[in-house]
Amino acid sequence: MKPIIGITTDVLERTSVKTYGDLSKQYAEEAFIQAIWQAQGLPFQLPWVDSPEQAQELLMVIDGLLVIGGHDISPNLYEEEPHPAITAFLPDRDRSDLLLIDAAVQAKKPVLGICRGMQLLNVYQGGSLYQDLSAQYAGLKIQHQQNSPPHIATHTITWETSRQYFKGFTQAVSQVNSVHHQAIKDLGRDLKAVAYSKDGLIEAIESTQEDCNFFGTQWHPETLWQKNGDHLKVFEELVFLSR
Ligand code: MN
Repeated sequence: MKPIIGITTDVLERTSVKTYGDLSKQYAEEAFIQAIWQAQGLPFQLPWVDSPEQAQELLMVIDGLLVIGGHDISPNLYEEEPHPAITAFLPDRDRSDLLLIDAAVQAKKPVLGICRGMQLLNVYQGGSLYQDLSAQYAGLKIQHQQNSPPHIATHTITWETSRQYFKGFTQAVSQVNSVHHQAIKDLGRDLKAVAYSKDGLIEAIESTQEDCNFFGTQWHPETLWQKNGDHLKVFEELVFLSR
């Protein structure tokens, strides 16, 4: 059987519930689901969890975890107050995602984090974030919140020569899309940055611990693989590690 890849979910919440169709929904973007299908995994959308027990039970069902993008991450999780430029964050979603990551680590199952998901892996490991790049990162020279659609790669990243989970990218430089105003500031424990943007931001990370299969991208490979097959290898690696 193909490995089952659990996909975390975002929330679509209406402020006033007028009809049944307005009730809040937990969902993952179809692009993640299609990428897992294409990588020969079985995509499986996960509900939010509110306790370690719920997370552990879900981890018994799945073989690997994909933590997707979305809202800003609560700065309280890395002991900062919210900067005036931070956008909406959802502590309940942070909590759910972190419980699932923790359960995956305990179950020794692989975790791929994309965009916010990568940032959350860093926070889980005790790292911190730039809450808003324009306000807080003096070296900002590149548009990281692109105005072009997500299937267009807009900036380059340069790979470190030594890397474990991204060997499918055989060139020294890759083209990526960029849809983030936050980024990793201080790297967490047992993590290694393996790709950087030209203005020095971390664009990919890996775990350095053998029994912990963490890896993540700041960009969105789920909307790029159709034009550049290298990006599908990110999901194929997750499916491979989940076997
Ligand atoms: Mn970027």
